[in-house]
Amino acid sequence: MSASIANDKKLMWFPFHLGILALRCPPPHSLTSISLGNRVAPLSVSFSLSLSNPIVSFRVVSFRFVSFLVNLKHHHSLTRPPTAHPCPFFSFLFLSFPFLSFPFHMSVKGAVADKFLANHGATSALLADPTWTEHSSDIVASAVLDWATANGAYSYCHWFQPMAASGVRHGLTGQVQNMMLKFNKENEPEFDFKGKDLIRGETDGSSFPNGGLRATHTAGGYLAVDTSSSIFLRGDVVFVPSAFVSYYGAALDEKTPLLRSNQAVSENGTRLLKALGAQDKDLEEGLIANIGLEQEFFLIPRDAYLSRLDLQMAGRTVMGKNAPRGQEMCDHYMAAPSMTTPALACMQQIQEECWKMGIPLKTRHREVAPNQYEFAPLFGVNTGQIDQNIMVMQVIEEVAAQHGLAALLEEKPFADINGSGKHNNWSLASAKTSDGKSFNLMDPADMYARTNGNAAAFPSVIAALVAGFEEHGDILRMAISNPGNEFRLGACEAPPAIISTYLGDDMTNYLKAFKEGDTGAEYNPGKKTLDLGTKSVQPFQVPAEDRNRTSPLPYGGCRFEFRAVGSAVNCSMVNVALNTIAAEKFGELAERIESGESAAAVATDYLNKSWRVIFNGDNYNEDNQKMLTRRGIWRIDSGVEANHSIVMDKNVELFEKLGVMTKAECEARETILHDHYVGYVELEALSMVDMINQHVIPSVKNAGLGEAQTSEFLADLDKSVKIVKDAMSKIHAEEEPYEKAKMARVLRLETMVDVREVCDSAEEVVPEEAWTLATYKDMLFLDQNDSTWM
Ligand code: ADP
Ligand code: MG
Repeated sequence: MSASIANDKKLMWFPFHLGILALRCPPPHSLTSISLGNRVAPLSVSFSLSLSNPIVSFRVVSFRFVSFLVNLKHHHSLTRPPTAHPCPFFSFLFLSFPFLSFPFHMSVKGAVADKFLANHGATSALLADPTWTEHSSDIVASAVLDWATANGAYSYCHWFQPMAASGVRHGLTGQVQNMMLKFNKENEPEFDFKGKDLIRGETDGSSFPNGGLRATHTAGGYLAVDTSSSIFLRGDVVFVPSAFVSYYGAALDEKTPLLRSNQAVSENGTRLLKALGAQDKDLEEGLIANIGLEQEFFLIPRDAYLSRLDLQMAGRTVMGKNAPRGQEMCDHYMAAPSMTTPALACMQQIQEECWKMGIPLKTRHREVAPNQYEFAPLFGVNTGQIDQNIMVMQVIEEVAAQHGLAALLEEKPFADINGSGKHNNWSLASAKTSDGKSFNLMDPADMYARTNGNAAAFPSVIAALVAGFEEHGDILRMAISNPGNEFRLGACEAPPAIISTYLGDDMTNYLKAFKEGDTGAEYNPGKKTLDLGTKSVQPFQVPAEDRNRTSPLPYGGCRFEFRAVGSAVNCSMVNVALNTIAAEKFGELAERIESGESAAAVATDYLNKSWRVIFNGDNYNEDNQKMLTRRGIWRIDSGVEANHSIVMDKNVELFEKLGVMTKAECEARETILHDHYVGYVELEALSMVDMINQHVIPSVKNAGLGEAQTSEFLADLDKSVKIVKDAMSKIHAEEEPYEKAKMARVLRLETMVDVREVCDSAEEVVPEEAWTLATYKDMLFLDQNDSTWM
């Protein structure tokens, strides 16, 4: 029995026995089944293959994922120049690469949605207005079902992001995969997927962190489609990005506050732009926040990973003597992606898997630390980008395993070499302009042009942002606080925990002149010419601004780059912070300008009040850090304290005022952040105890060291185990989450660091064959010691 499933909604290939459905269809098209070979350049192959099994055989197009554009308004501006518009990935891909097996005609924006909606009498224009969920959900659901089945998918899930999932939960998401199936009147199975199935889901999920927002006896959780992100296909499943809230509408996830902050920044930003002279027709659909998330991570040999309990449980080495080599030769950064290790093939396959989902990982390179790598995507609307980044992290982990590698996304897996971050590049743009061209609020030329030549418009936006950074640096610090980042911030590999912003001398001088009264001149970012003194390389122009990689929040020409974000996190809270701060200040400036003050005067006032937060120097320099601390800008060294700032009156007021989070939601989040921190430290501490007992102590005993040295080590190790266990017991005995987290921080950053020294000094003297844990040398040097391909 065999049948094509394309366009056939009857499941001819489901045999039934005694009323029990025995699903005998081909296995889901797993990653392995569509692997195109390790060394195939991912973007230039024909994406098709055949699957067969004894029951049924059919051909599927393995380039199945073509994201179903749920909200086209965010992709309207696909012709904008690359520095200033939302990510146009679908249409860009369609137009630029030869997807020979892609079954649909190639055209710009919404081709996929158009194709399938057409069969139901609609076009992708329907999706531009999120109220389609109210009046046309059945139409959209039918089109999604057609699209899914045409691509070999027959399940769907509401895909959500429970609070504080970062770094621990696999894939960072929640989902229940349901078949799109029912029995008809004739008792035959049929594909079935209605509007109600698409737009809402209900789940139990009392076991998700909720910080008191929900108890097991009030456990209802609701899922609602997020129309700002794209539905996508992976394997046999349609993924529907969703918000996750309690029965009372409280946010239980990372996405809901982000969506609310998008609305706040759109409303307040639109208001300010209008006050500055922008035209209604360029702001009809408000503003969008665009982000591009650079993802750093490590790839290490999987067997080494499997020999390390700490890496398996917590993603970080809690002990390990340094290898003779670290990053001192600067030899890894951007080095050639060598074919002698599985890393390149792994990177290629990650790109390929992401590409199938419409995720363009544009950039790949080696990062600074040995075995450290990075991907950067094309930027786009924040909700979609965060969804995609979460999927990227999952794919990185999955594909690495297929190449005999383990991917480490945690911020600081190894001591004394760089950890990993996730730079959050952020800009704000009009969602739709009258001429379809760019209107990026952080681009001085756009601002000047769109406000009818108002020279004060760009400085007003920058003044608002700078004022927000200055007043609410604690919120920005909270947003980047997670256990892994504790070892990174301020360690001269990531910016310190002092929130300043780099505007560059060119813009700083301009703003200085502006606030001193020279308010009529447009800001034209300078350029300078570099002449290398050889005819072979002709003189060329570069921006007058250098880059500052030490600043937590540098302006990078048309965008701010929040560089202090941790690699393992869901970036929602980071963007909630940026958007909310911007929204508040945009609203304040608008208010004053609307009530008669000149924009120049208001911007000057804000710049004067917040000037101290601008710092263009070296943030890694300790004297500069002391100086910035004396200036009184926000500095919160402890991540636990930073987490606590979410419930400070000033911040609760801000979030409530802008409709982003209620007081109860802030309080719940604080509890969850503390619980998460404590839980994380516990994983690490217990791993450390087990590793000492199961590895370090036996290794010392088998090392053949002299009696005195052996007993000294054993005594120190016994004592260490006791100290760690005692600290854990004290944390357990404390009830208050904030207090627990403070104690956990001391355990992790002080006690465990001391214990580590004991273990590392044992590793130094134990012979290699007696040391049973993978060493830093084993883990960090694929180029030097990988034997996979030899
Ligand atoms: P870097 O050299 O700073 O590491 P990368 O190319 O690695 O640069 O990453 C820069 C990221 O910033 C990319 O993901 C890119 O899409 C994103 N980006 C560029 N312009 C903007 C913008 N206007 N708004 C948001 N993100 C942007
Ligand atoms: Mg980069």
